[in-house]
Amino acid sequence: MRKLLMIPGPIEISPAVVEATSGAPPSHVAPDFIEAFGHALTAMRKVWLAPDDHQPFAIAGSGTIAMEMAATNLIGPGDRVLLVNTGYFGDRMAKMLRRRGAMVEELRAPAGSAPSVEAARDQLARGGFKALFATHVDTSTGVRVDAQALAELARAHDALSVFDGVCATAGERFDMGAWGADVYLTASQKAIGLPAGLALMVASPRALAARKILAAPPPMSLDFQEWLPIMQAYEARAGSYFSTPATTLVRGLAVGLDEILASRAEGASGVEARFAAHAQAAERLRRVWRVLGLELFAEDALAANTLSAIRYPAGIDTKLVGAISERGVIVAGGLHPEHKNAYFRVGHMGYSITQPEHLERTVSAIAEALAALGHACDVDAARRELAS
Ligand SMILES: *Cc1c(COP(=O)(O)O)cnc(C)c1O
Repeated sequence: MRKLLMIPGPIEISPAVVEATSGAPPSHVAPDFIEAFGHALTAMRKVWLAPDDHQPFAIAGSGTIAMEMAATNLIGPGDRVLLVNTGYFGDRMAKMLRRRGAMVEELRAPAGSAPSVEAARDQLARGGFKALFATHVDTSTGVRVDAQALAELARAHDALSVFDGVCATAGERFDMGAWGADVYLTASQKAIGLPAGLALMVASPRALAARKILAAPPPMSLDFQEWLPIMQAYEARAGSYFSTPATTLVRGLAVGLDEILASRAEGASGVEARFAAHAQAAERLRRVWRVLGLELFAEDALAANTLSAIRYPAGIDTKLVGAISERGVIVAGGLHPEHKNAYFRVGHMGYSITQPEHLERTVSAIAEALAALGHACDVDAARRELAS
């Protein structure tokens, strides 16, 4: 049997998305491709909970490219940025912004924690910040920041806000319109549920305006100004060309986003139901980890719904990841530079959280591997907890 991919991206993808991202590649000006691209862009606004005047961008690339696109379109040399840094990808964003010549002030916290909203407020109150950047869910620690509070704070201080949602978008609640965030970015291989290869974001009118008056233009291939007419053309169902889109992936994006928007749950539908499904699966898994005597790397109140970063219990080390793989499930090792040998990571986002069998296989493989390596735990109790 093929091993189940339960890392924080790439993730398992649905059969319909597998089908849509396979086969002969369409031309970028074929009528059915134009329709798919236009449809996907409109669907992005719904998944991002973004108003009609917000602009979706879907370009070939990775999460890092999406980060660079946001950073270089909004920020120029000398601009002051407040960075709420919660780990590995915050460090990456800091480097990127400094290369761009920005004056970056970082708010940091011990690994597994997050800087307080009050600290961000105090810093912004000193004035002069062009933007606040934060990682919605830090993939190296499993920490989720309070994106709503940070976005609203930025607004109140007349600063732009940019959120790296690469390990969160479509899995963690984010209401772009209501919260007034300016860029929310992700990549296709995380909770969006596609293969890797697309950099995705939605930008507010304020973000687009900030690009327009930027003295130092971003690299051409990442420029909002170059891509804006292209995205607008496709959404108006006209073909257009600036740089060839990843046509096969865009075809898959339309299918994947439709699946997310077709989610149904008690009292919710669309992306809200999808958020709720992630919250429910994560809550259930957290109960399972407790039954197995495991602790999260993140503070409980900050624990993300899209992945679990789990401390190795006493007597267990990094060999656990291989032992879980031998039992048919691929999980990830640690990623935080200073603590990576202290924990492992389990992704629970996208298609897999809609498949009880995926969660069962994951819990069984982890529990059995722990038991085999000598950790005293009750494998059946863990399975029962997941089912309860
Ligand atoms: C995965 C990830 C990235 C980087 O995405 P790539 O596609 O690997 O470049 C950036 N930020 C976060 C939060 C991520 O989880």
